[in-house]
Amino acid sequence: AEEMIRRSDKLSAVGQLAAGVAHEIRNPLTTLRGFIQFLKQDIDKNYIEIMLTELDRINMIVSEFLILSKPQGINYQLIDLKRIVQTIVSLLDTQAKINNVQILSDLDVDHSLITGEPNQLKQVIINLLKNSIEAMPKGGEITVYLKQTDPNALSIVIQDQGIGIPADLIPKLGEPFFTTKEEGTGLGLMVCYKIIENHGGAINISSEPNKGTSVEVSLPINFR
Ligand code: ADP
Ligand code: MG
Repeated sequence: AEEMIRRSDKLSAVGQLAAGVAHEIRNPLTTLRGFIQFLKQDIDKNYIEIMLTELDRINMIVSEFLILSKPQGINYQLIDLKRIVQTIVSLLDTQAKINNVQILSDLDVDHSLITGEPNQLKQVIINLLKNSIEAMPKGGEITVYLKQTDPNALSIVIQDQGIGIPADLIPKLGEPFFTTKEEGTGLGLMVCYKIIENHGGAINISSEPNKGTSVEVSLPINFR
């Protein structure tokens, strides 16, 4: 069955988000404190490995939030979406190949100029492509294309042949800290939704378990 969702309402729950962040950071901090306590008695290299893993986790969580709140660098301008997508595809191509994933792109549209924040849009494409790569542990193909949906809108579509998303989990996508991955932060999609909402656009995700997932990011060509 195919499920579609369009969402922006969950993003306004700032209080819930703050509680989630506090909780997610407190867990590794509690672990770190416990291990430092042990280290006072007995220097064991295994403790240090666990401590480093927990520190990396805090670092990842904080980094994802920094993307949203970068004080400098939010600079809406006229940008060529085609070039932005090309740049990110070549950036992730090596990582894809290591995972037996091939990224195919078809970016030919008549007009690919839109108003947007280049670094934030790059981040959205990175987060989505990473999810697609991570969804294909045995490899496969990702197709990225641009689509002119109406005179004032342009879409980036990212399709993979990955594990897909069960229908009952679709409503959870974009919720902070929702992850099905051992090492996931569950913040990637939340960041995508927030950035695209700030651009006056929308994200639609459709998925079929064991077949793949398709994410469409639609952006107005002119906004504001
Ligand atoms: P993370 O990647 O850290 O888990 P995200 O917010 O990027 O966090 O994604 C949340 C969850 O959504 C993932 O854990 C996964 O279950 C699901 N998901 C997102 N994109 C895909 C995809 N392309 N294929 C399958 N599942 C996906
Ligand atoms: Mg992710």
